[in-house]
Amino acid sequence: MAQTEKISIGLKHNLGYYLVPEQKLGFFVKIKEDETMKYNHLFGPVPSRRLGISLGVDLVPLKTCTLNCIYCECGRTTDLTVTRKNYVPLSEVEEELTDYFANNPRPDYITFSGSGEPTLNSNIGHVLHFIRNYIHDIPVAILTNGTLFSTKQVREDIKDAALVMPSLDAATEKIFRKINRPYPRLKIDTIIDGLVRFRKEYSGQIWLEIFIVPGMNDTKHELTALKQAIEKIAPDQVQLNTLDRPGPVSTVRAATRQELKHIMNFWQLDNVTIIADVSERKDLLAYRTDTESAILGTIARRPCTLKDLSEILGLQINEVNKYLDVLEADGKIKTVKQKRGFFYQSVSIHK
Ligand code: SF4
Repeated sequence: MAQTEKISIGLKHNLGYYLVPEQKLGFFVKIKEDETMKYNHLFGPVPSRRLGISLGVDLVPLKTCTLNCIYCECGRTTDLTVTRKNYVPLSEVEEELTDYFANNPRPDYITFSGSGEPTLNSNIGHVLHFIRNYIHDIPVAILTNGTLFSTKQVREDIKDAALVMPSLDAATEKIFRKINRPYPRLKIDTIIDGLVRFRKEYSGQIWLEIFIVPGMNDTKHELTALKQAIEKIAPDQVQLNTLDRPGPVSTVRAATRQELKHIMNFWQLDNVTIIADVSERKDLLAYRTDTESAILGTIARRPCTLKDLSEILGLQINEVNKYLDVLEADGKIKTVKQKRGFFYQSVSIHK
């Protein structure tokens, strides 16, 4: 394949594809190279802002969640539920993890995350045990919305993770319903109580993430209630986050750096940080310029939604998201709202 530029997208052992740049049109076509395992439940490793090189494990189908947050970059929740069950076969997850570690370098973290709420999977504890027994020395992080922590079994299931990163965007019922649009019977006081209980039982790190939506959870009243909740939960760290790119609700805007600093000053707590800027992500070792090129090549041909890109490139939505964040911050792409949602298009050919 003399003319073939070898560009592996996602994991080489995952996809086993060559991407061939077409000389004139400037886009890529996939040619299957070999029969390597295709992963349905693993993604990345992705350049994570907080965890370095992180291999993702997705334990629920796309947008199966207890919440339907107005800022969710994965789009609207299609299965709003609080029912815990075996959403994906445990044996498949174990098989994929075994294959991954037999063929790939070790990431800094294994992260249970993805495009839904991982604690909805009733086998999360089994996956955690499998990782601990089989790949002892890689810490596991769990990205969760924390809404099920009032259930003892959920707290038990995840107690062996090295790091748990729950989110809490509101401490009053009214703002909780506005921002997180929860499954009807979820109540914010019960959720906060679950987080407090978890802190008492769990000896690992808890990094509480608060997603700031200007005009909703940055009022004096809400910030005061959030501060009280933080003091009760006593997490090791509090991380302020905000929108990188458009979510499902177009009126939601990102908080500025100054607004986030103002919140830190208002709280006067010593464990609050702002999650690193998008541009800093590019410096991470796991940032793959070949993946970036594949995304740029695809949208140069025609504007795509997040879902289109995920399907065309065979990458998990979260993984595509990370790259879109950086490309948009670099001014290489822009978003345009159309009937079918937000489309990403190349800046250079549309100027
Ligand atoms: S909890 Fe996470 S996955 Fe669920 S809707 Fe909110 S942002 Fe999306």
